[in-house]
Amino acid sequence: MPPVADTFGRPLRNLRLSVTDRCNLRCSYCMPEEEYVWLPKPNVLTFEEVARTVAAFTALGVDELRLTGGEPLLRADLPVLVRMLAAPRRLREIAMTTNGVLLADHAVALRAAGVDRLTVSLDTLRPATFRLLSRRDDLPRVFAGIEAARAAGFTGLKLDTVVIDGVNDDEVPALLDYARGIGAEIRFIEYMDVGGATHWSPERVVSRARLLEQLRAAHGTVHALPRTDSAPAERFALRDGTTFGIIASVTKPFCSTCDRSRLTADGMWFTCLYATHGEDLRALLRSGADDAALCERIREVWRGRRDRGAEVRAALPERRALAEAASLRANPHLEMHTRGG
Ligand code: SAM
Ligand code: SF4
Ligand code: SF4
Repeated sequence: MPPVADTFGRPLRNLRLSVTDRCNLRCSYCMPEEEYVWLPKPNVLTFEEVARTVAAFTALGVDELRLTGGEPLLRADLPVLVRMLAAPRRLREIAMTTNGVLLADHAVALRAAGVDRLTVSLDTLRPATFRLLSRRDDLPRVFAGIEAARAAGFTGLKLDTVVIDGVNDDEVPALLDYARGIGAEIRFIEYMDVGGATHWSPERVVSRARLLEQLRAAHGTVHALPRTDSAPAERFALRDGTTFGIIASVTKPFCSTCDRSRLTADGMWFTCLYATHGEDLRALLRSGADDAALCERIREVWRGRRDRGAEVRAALPERRALAEAASLRANPHLEMHTRGG
C-alpha cells in the first residue's frame, strides 16, 4: 500500500501505543488530582486486537512503535504483547517509555521479547524532590531499573526530564552529569500544558533558552547538532562530545514535521496530543470490520489531518492549563496518562 500523508504532507510513521491508563506514580505535571476515572476494563483492547490494529498502521507506513501509558509495565504479560508485535518484522523499532519503578523486574524479559530501546523518565536525583513530584518514594527503584536495563543489554538508553521552575530546575547540570556517567542521553522537556497538567502555568515552564543558558554556565560551550529525523528533541553536544536533547514543545513547537499519533489502551486514536476528538477504532474492530476496512478508515482520517496543537497553543494571547479537573473526569481520554506521552 502507498504511504499515507496528511493535509500538510506529513507521513504517518510513528505510533505511540498506550497499553494501560493506570500508573504507580502521581507526577504533579501529569496526575496531580486525588481521584481518577479509569477506562472500563472490558473496553481495553486484547493483545490480539492491539496486534491487528498495529498491523493496519504498519501497512500504512508506521515503522516506529513506542509502548507507553500510564505506566506500561503495569500491563500484565507485556512481553507476550511485544513478541506478537515484533513477529511480523514490519517495525524498524519497538521502543518503550517507562517511569522505571518496575523495570528491574522486567528488563531481561522485555529485551528478549523484542523491545529495542528504552526511555526512562527521571526528573530528579533527590529522593525528597522525587517524593514531592510523584507522591511516591520510589527513586531507589528507578535507579535499580536503570541499572537492570543496562545489564540486560539495552544500549542507546534515553532519560526524559520534565523541568519545572522551582522544583528541579537547579538539577539540570547534575542530571546531565548522571546521564553521561551511565552512557545515556538525557532530554530536557519543557513542562507542557497538556490534558492532565491542571497545575500548569506559564511561569513554571523552564524554556529551551533558559536550559541552554544554564547548561552553558555549568558545562561550557554547547553546539547544536544537525537534525537527522522528525524526532521531537533538538540535539546538542558539549565540548567533550556528550550529547543531550531539548524538547521545546511550548516555546518552539515542532508540529510542522509531526508524524506521530497515539492509540489509547481502549482503542481511541488521536492524531495530536492536544486533539479533543479521537477515532474509535475499538468500535470498528468489534463491529467485525476486516483488515482492509480498518486500514481504509485510518488512511482516511490521516489524510484529513490538520493538527498543529502546540503551534495553536503557542499563538494564544493568554495561556492557561488546557483542561480543568472536572472536564478531565468527564472525558478521561483528554488525559496525558490515558493517551500516552
Ligand atoms: N509513565 C511513563 C513515564 O512516565 O515514563 C510513560 C507515560 S508518561 C505520560 C510519558 C512521558 O510524558 C513522560 O516522560 C512524562 O514525563 C511526560 N509528561 C507527562 N506530563 C507532561 C507534561 N505536562 N509536560 C511534559 N511532559 C509530560
Ligand atoms: Fe508520571 Fe508517567 Fe505516571 Fe504520568 S503516566 S504520572 S508521567 S509516571
Ligand atoms: Fe504533533 Fe500535535 Fe504535538 Fe504538534 S502538538 S507536535 S501536531 S502531537
